[in-house]
Amino acid sequence: MAGDLDAERIQIEAIGEPGERRFRFLAIVNGETYAIWMEKQQVHALGLALEQMLDRLPDMGPTLGAAPGMAEFDRETRRQFRVGRMELGYDEGEDRLVVVAHDLNSADEDEATFACRMTREQARDLSAEAAAVVAAGRPRCTMCGEPMGPGPHVCPQQNGHFKHDLEAADEPDEE
Ligand SMILES: [Zn+2]
Repeated sequence: MAGDLDAERIQIEAIGEPGERRFRFLAIVNGETYAIWMEKQQVHALGLALEQMLDRLPDMGPTLGAAPGMAEFDRETRRQFRVGRMELGYDEGEDRLVVVAHDLNSADEDEATFACRMTREQARDLSAEAAAVVAAGRPRCTMCGEPMGPGPHVCPQQNGHFKHDLEAADEPDEE
């Protein structure tokens, strides 16, 4: 893909009523809106992968925060597809995280359907957004306020410590 792939604006969006929510990743790249439909598990996995990559990146010192993109998403865009495989990369020269998404229904496995580059700040926001969107459909623990399940809930109020479950990428279907 030629051209400047910097994301002007990105967002994870949940559409529909609880129990029947659908999820998509919206991105404006080169002035065009892309809407990439994802399973809840994929949203969760993307959020975790971004977080883990951010944790591993070398410290580049203070960076200039990019002005927040004010462009409006074209929510009726024709550039929509259901994602199959996703890849995450890092462009060291530019200090950008790179997301590549392949159309689940594309005949050509090797052809990237979508790619965009994001700043660390954008990636951090997107990761937090993914976590919030995934958690929004779950009941919260009355003891600690954290979203519960699908696995056993390790409650910091009961155990005195919080165990981050980074392997919990295996979410069940939308409840
Ligand atoms: Zn709890």
